[in-house]
Amino acid sequence: MRATVMFGAGDVRIETVPDARLIEPTDALVVVTRAAICGSDLWPYKTMEHNETGRRMGHEFIGVVEAVGTDVRTVKAGDVVVAPFLYSDGTCLFCRERLHTSCSHGGRWGWNGVDGGQGVAVRVPQADGTLVVVPVGTDDARMPSLLTLSDVMATGHHAAVASKVGPGKTAAVVGDGAVGLCGVIAARRLGAERIILLGGRPNRIALAREFGATDVVTERGATAVERVHALTGGFGVHSVLECVGLGQSTLTALSIARPGGAVGRVGLPQEESIPQALLTFFNNVTVGGGVAPARAYIEELLPDVLEGRIEPGRVFDRVVRLDGVPDGYRAMNDREAIKVLIEF
Ligand SMILES: [Zn+2]
Repeated sequence: MRATVMFGAGDVRIETVPDARLIEPTDALVVVTRAAICGSDLWPYKTMEHNETGRRMGHEFIGVVEAVGTDVRTVKAGDVVVAPFLYSDGTCLFCRERLHTSCSHGGRWGWNGVDGGQGVAVRVPQADGTLVVVPVGTDDARMPSLLTLSDVMATGHHAAVASKVGPGKTAAVVGDGAVGLCGVIAARRLGAERIILLGGRPNRIALAREFGATDVVTERGATAVERVHALTGGFGVHSVLECVGLGQSTLTALSIARPGGAVGRVGLPQEESIPQALLTFFNNVTVGGGVAPARAYIEELLPDVLEGRIEPGRVFDRVVRLDGVPDGYRAMNDREAIKVLIEF
């Protein structure tokens, strides 16, 4: 079958790989109908050392179950399913605590003999714990939004939860990528009265405003911090959704939380340490967040997508076929596209 393989920085190819097939009795075989390229796929795209074997790519996909192993109970052939960006059994200590990202039997797509999502089909380990059936046909107009539940919408929601967004509060979203834009949706969904987007690109700002951003700060660094303070009577915001992970964005995020506020970090950290130790200490700022347990949130967010209350699929601004995936990586890396949808 055909699938996306990365061989090194800037080197993404569509290759013929062994067909996905059932191996464990807890597996499902899913034929992919839509997948996505993630901002986090761009980190290896920028930095990966050349490797002859290559690395299977993709962790956001939606598809149709073709077959299931003998132990699988909750999905069956023909079901349309969405997968979160990690697989998990749904039953271990951590899954029961809704922290599926720490599952004792979980893992990553594209690693240890598991297929990546940017390919024709995927063997899904721990199918009962991992897959969520979506009650729509594969051509449904809501498909792009349903696909975002696998990662970016769940991650934006995690940032909002970790930063304690609630009714009447002021939130700030650092980053205008797909996760930041979904963070705006999540902040509004949880009742934030005011949502300040920190980001710079006009098309993204326009989308953020449609999603519920009330204010936009296009400056960076110390100037951005000053602007947020000026917008909030000098106090800063209750909730900061850090959706980038760079040192600069993290510094900004921690600098704009008001006393007693909270920062939800969901951007993959590119530095080992967290800045502003003294400021956040004396202001009693909670620093939380981490890798989003997307599986824990899919059922909660699903009705809002199905009933049209949120449309996170609007973050996709380019659609490619599988052969167009290498150019999709380039377009996202060059900031031509916010997020690329792959149709099969
Ligand atoms: Zn588990």
